[in-house]
Amino acid sequence: MPNGSFHALTSKAALEQLDTTAEGLSQFEATRRLAEYGPNEIESQKKVSKVELLLQQVKNPLVAVLILAAIISLIAGKNVDAVVILGVIIVNSLIGFSQEYKADTAIEALRSQAAPEAEVLRQMADERGSPKSETGRDAVEARIKASEIVPGDIILLSAGDRVPADARLLTAANLQVDESMLTGESLVVTKHTDPVHEHAPTAERTNLLFGGTIVIEGRGKAVVFATGKSAEMGKIATLIQETEKAVSPLQLQMQDLGKKLGLLALFSASLIFGLGLIRGLAIQEIFLFALAMAVSSIPAGLPAVLSITLAVGVTRMARRNAIIRRLHAVDTLGAATTICTDKTGTLTTNQMTVQQILAGGQRVTVTGTGFVPAGEFKRDGNTIDPDGDESLRLALEIGALCTDAHLTRHKLDGNDGAESSAEDHRWEIRGDPTEGALVVAAAKAELHKGHLEEVYPRIDEIPFSSMRRFMATFHRTPEGPVRVYVKGAPDTILEFCHQSLTGIDATAIDDAARQTILDENSRLASEALRVLAVAYETIAPEDVETFKEELEFGRAALTFVGLMGMMDPARPEVPEAVRLCKRAGIRVIMATGDHQLTGEAIGREVGILEEGDRVLTGNDLNSMSDEELDAIIGETAVFARVSPEHKHRLVQSLQRQGEVVAMTGDGVNDAPALQASEIGVAMGITGTDVTKETADMVLTDDNFASIVNAVEEGRVVFMNVRKVVKYLIATNIGEVITLLGAMAFIPEMGLIITPVQILWVNLVTDGILDISLAMEPKERDVMEEPPRQASTRIINNEILLNTVWVALFMAVGTLGLYMHTMNSARAATAQTVAFTTLAMFQVFNALNCRSRTKSFFSLGLLTNKFLAGAIAISLTLQVLVTRLPFMQVGLETQSLALGQWGLIALVASSVFFADELRKLVVGLKKTRRADRPLPASAITEPGEYGA
Ligand code: ADP
Ligand code: MG
Repeated sequence: MPNGSFHALTSKAALEQLDTTAEGLSQFEATRRLAEYGPNEIESQKKVSKVELLLQQVKNPLVAVLILAAIISLIAGKNVDAVVILGVIIVNSLIGFSQEYKADTAIEALRSQAAPEAEVLRQMADERGSPKSETGRDAVEARIKASEIVPGDIILLSAGDRVPADARLLTAANLQVDESMLTGESLVVTKHTDPVHEHAPTAERTNLLFGGTIVIEGRGKAVVFATGKSAEMGKIATLIQETEKAVSPLQLQMQDLGKKLGLLALFSASLIFGLGLIRGLAIQEIFLFALAMAVSSIPAGLPAVLSITLAVGVTRMARRNAIIRRLHAVDTLGAATTICTDKTGTLTTNQMTVQQILAGGQRVTVTGTGFVPAGEFKRDGNTIDPDGDESLRLALEIGALCTDAHLTRHKLDGNDGAESSAEDHRWEIRGDPTEGALVVAAAKAELHKGHLEEVYPRIDEIPFSSMRRFMATFHRTPEGPVRVYVKGAPDTILEFCHQSLTGIDATAIDDAARQTILDENSRLASEALRVLAVAYETIAPEDVETFKEELEFGRAALTFVGLMGMMDPARPEVPEAVRLCKRAGIRVIMATGDHQLTGEAIGREVGILEEGDRVLTGNDLNSMSDEELDAIIGETAVFARVSPEHKHRLVQSLQRQGEVVAMTGDGVNDAPALQASEIGVAMGITGTDVTKETADMVLTDDNFASIVNAVEEGRVVFMNVRKVVKYLIATNIGEVITLLGAMAFIPEMGLIITPVQILWVNLVTDGILDISLAMEPKERDVMEEPPRQASTRIINNEILLNTVWVALFMAVGTLGLYMHTMNSARAATAQTVAFTTLAMFQVFNALNCRSRTKSFFSLGLLTNKFLAGAIAISLTLQVLVTRLPFMQVGLETQSLALGQWGLIALVASSVFFADELRKLVVGLKKTRRADRPLPASAITEPGEYGA
């Protein structure tokens, strides 16, 4: 790793020492350095190794019980049993291992998807390895994984970014960095590029950026000199990697449930043991029997099944563009009652296009769509030349220069002709789409940002922030004076303007003129256009600092130039998503920084704002107490001109109403609001590192509809957990009741099923069938129900009732068939019949648990291929275990006649047909009820999502 006191060097010397240029490394050199210096990571968090995971399975108390059983079998001289039990231990552990491993890797893979990224400059080369442009210096901005950063890389940073590695600044504009994670001091440090004293302490090396710190404001460009463990952060051993092992509320409930069922198992095992003693069975035999029963009645698969169900949910959400960063979000999402969303980019496409301009008091329309820089300027329907209109030209120029976005193009395939037009390329915006729209509008008038910047280089700036609502840049002119270009929210900009440009003259703005401009603004905003105002001033070079200060304090005097109205169409899928939310009992609230009328127009278009809903602005909020807000937040659908602080207040107010809130955010200052909400949602594309890190969920497409999809998946997760629990409890308790019943009521001596057979049944039910239920696809109607309460227990009356019902069928069916077989066959055959019946009951019970209301015949077997496979495996194994000679010895089974199989199928399927009948009756009742109007209470009652 190159070393040296980079803070004491000039930036030029730093570049030289690192053998790089301000245009960045070539891709080739970067790859080479990555191999030499290693990835930019602090020792990655300790992952549980495969061996550890396997050992964890063996440490399971269940295994201890099984080992005890094996030992007792040995003592009793049942060597075959001992071997079989050993086999059970191995298979059990392997199943547990593979389940947990799968769950772990699925979540791990997603975590890497959400890995931090960084913006770097790289010199792009074509396939032959030669630089693309003639100068050989074609620097391209690229987003790469932060772990791939190497010394010598040029990184670009702006507000909200986390610095990816230690770097020496090359340029810094208003750059403010929070270094508290490094120094422990919560002071924001202002950065610059000048060398500092060689022996300055770390905290005073203000021309360096340290990996892990956060950019609060401004922008900067820096050259990386230390990565990974060589970086300052890497040296601090105390830095704890975010491991996020927090358990979700569902997991807590499951742990609790597991304990209760464990106690129940212990109790019933003792009961069986006692009963066996009374009946005078051999003590070793009855002990083994009791042990086997204890093992099988503990739903050992519960925690693993839950991890899998959550992991399946996480994977399904990822497929629908929602990356889960914290596991608890998976089940909390299912309980969300309010979604509080941004407008720009979330409800809209963020494909901004300037459509209307007010310049020099005249209205101009602009044609063209998207970011393609092709279009015309029209006044009253006639095409005009923007070059001939001073105010229009200036408005466009300010728009292009007072932005950080730029336009890039990629040639579309198959258009290799010499005359290629704008439409032959795919145009993309790097940076904020709002700014991109301005750059594109200017390009339509042949005012290209790149050319303009050569003539009017930027010498200083005030970056945009949501609090300030404007941005200013200072440009040197060939003539001498400095030009200040400002753009921002019209109301904010107008505060600065004392005169306005008409043609080439500036006239003072009086109240009437101000009102005219505000009216124009309202007119544009009510057409759903996002409006920015542009203004300028010319100052002497020595006045830059003073003027900057005046702007910061809102005192500067500017000349108003015009308004730029841009169209940001609503995403086509949003209205349907909003409708889905409303049907699902979820409130949708828009919180936008944009103008009230723009917010209203979009809100109405997508269905968030309906008749009777209120619209409030940030100003209204300022004059409102928390109590006043609480009183009307219930009927407010749109909050306009709100700042991040306001969003925080909204979340808190909603929570006081008992709402479970999902809140979106993108800017640095949104972090507190995201943190406060139950489900913080960050934007994957436009979001800052800070919001992504605080968020529970990141949307890869920034799309509102993706939040709704994630909610739906969250509900499915809860539903599937319930299905598995319903199944496991019913089968486990059913088995216990059956065995207890046998012990108490079967007059014959001996066991109706051997301990080893019990273990076998358990292996099939707890190991294979339960997991496949977790893979159940969603039932169509999850979003037709209101949200469940966050505190809803998994176990409900329905599950309990079902357990009693299934246990009854299982016990009566198995014991009845056993006694029936005893009349005509040997005891061993009757045992096999009982054993097989019990196993088959589990298969049919699994079919029942797929849906609370839907018939198996309407779901179809193949909608859950895992379950179909699991059933096929269970059936095959059951046939083999009664057929194969060595298994007959191991499990003490007999071959069964076809007639006996038929009887078993008949008896075991009874539970299935009975439940189908119940579903039919319930379904009929429901349709009859649906004909009547729904009572109000049915709507406010929390949902249950089946089970
Ligand atoms: P939103 O993007 O939801 O409108 P923001 O807080 O990001 O909210 O922006 C607040 C307001 O500041 C915007 O409505 C717009 O008028 C103005 N604005 C947004 N982006 C910029 C920018 N890059 N430069 C200047 N002004 C901007
Ligand atoms: Mg914004």
